[in-house]
Amino acid sequence: MLNLPKEIQFIISTIEAHGYEAYAVGGCVRDMLCGKIPDDYDITTSANPHAVEDMFERTVPTGIKHGTVTVIVGDRAVEVTTFRCDGDYTDRRRPDSVKFVPELKQDLARRDFTVNALAYNDRLGVCDFYGGREDINNRVLRAVGDPEKRFCEDALRILRLFRFSCTLKFTPETGTLNSALKHLKLLEDISRERIFTELLKAVCSDNPERLTPLIKEHGLAFLGITRAGNLKILKKLERKQDLRLFVFLYLCADDINTALEALKASNKTKEYCRKMLIANSTVIKVKADIKNLLFKTSPEIFADFLVLQTAIGNDISEEKRMFNEIIINREPYKTKELAINGKDLEKLGISGKKVGETLEKLRKAVVLDPNENTRERLIEKTKQNIGN
Ligand code: ATP
Ligand code: MG
Repeated sequence: MLNLPKEIQFIISTIEAHGYEAYAVGGCVRDMLCGKIPDDYDITTSANPHAVEDMFERTVPTGIKHGTVTVIVGDRAVEVTTFRCDGDYTDRRRPDSVKFVPELKQDLARRDFTVNALAYNDRLGVCDFYGGREDINNRVLRAVGDPEKRFCEDALRILRLFRFSCTLKFTPETGTLNSALKHLKLLEDISRERIFTELLKAVCSDNPERLTPLIKEHGLAFLGITRAGNLKILKKLERKQDLRLFVFLYLCADDINTALEALKASNKTKEYCRKMLIANSTVIKVKADIKNLLFKTSPEIFADFLVLQTAIGNDISEEKRMFNEIIINREPYKTKELAINGKDLEKLGISGKKVGETLEKLRKAVVLDPNENTRERLIEKTKQNIGN
């Protein structure tokens, strides 16, 4: 028996008590069979969405058209979806329509890989119509049904094949792999948001180097990702999404900014990468170089930059030592850490954009010598500066 959380058991048994079938389905069953605790649980049921809404106190109609109701039990929000099969995929992105179907077997047939086409409940155990258990045991990724047809229906599955290869360390079965590689071009029609989500999961996985064949076969060229860099480097980094993504693009993209645009990355991610690029292109010789870089970026970015340099194999012991000294001694490097401010400068007769320029000169002086950061010294320096 697999170990379902009590909230999931409650949802399944409630639906069953109303005379319908219900199962945990997809990735959660696969993960439990692999001995892993799933991140989230999905439920599939013979009950239609409105019947599901009527059975539970707290529900959210998250995708009624597609048969999905989110049921909230305790701290868990669980997607409960009516058995369905997908209609035609004329745009190769989303089914034109979904049709509710009476049997679990039909619902499992629409799923991408056999290892994801498993269902489970405590009453019936694991329901496996497509050989998913055997494929889990052999660590194989195999399309459910004809791979040609399945990849042409929804080309995102091509990327998912490589993504699951990265996250599960399973190997694509030959027919499935050949079919995926044959239809790589179709990926270009898939929404960039869906692509980004899958790519991030691959990049943040334990085995990101398993993306290499996809890149070598030009599967990501339409995103400006064409260089098969050494992705094993990513394994040395924590799973912080922005850091992993930046390093992935640093290793594989022709131009990081172009790739970020193509992926429709968020402004926050773009900003992070912009700062990491500054850090990576700054020549660091003395402590002042680091302080100026900290001013332009942040200590967090600099710490990530050091992690990246270490992962690449560069000796950055001296940079680390200087950075630690700056942080431990709280050496000033920001304008707002100066012992005087804009108002003080105005009292000295400075106005307009001269205020900012003078503050920047003073900041640079303090960066070179922290002892300069007293009111008297900075006023004196300002007066000299006015004199010049
Ligand atoms: P993870 O644990 O990484 O989230 P997952 O298998 O749960 O993996 P999801 O993207 O959350 O992946 O999808 C849940 C389930 O929905 C899958 O296990 C699969 O059965 C089905 N599925 C998702 N996307 C597709 C798709 N594009 N084509 C066919 N089936 C899909
Ligand atoms: Mg999932």
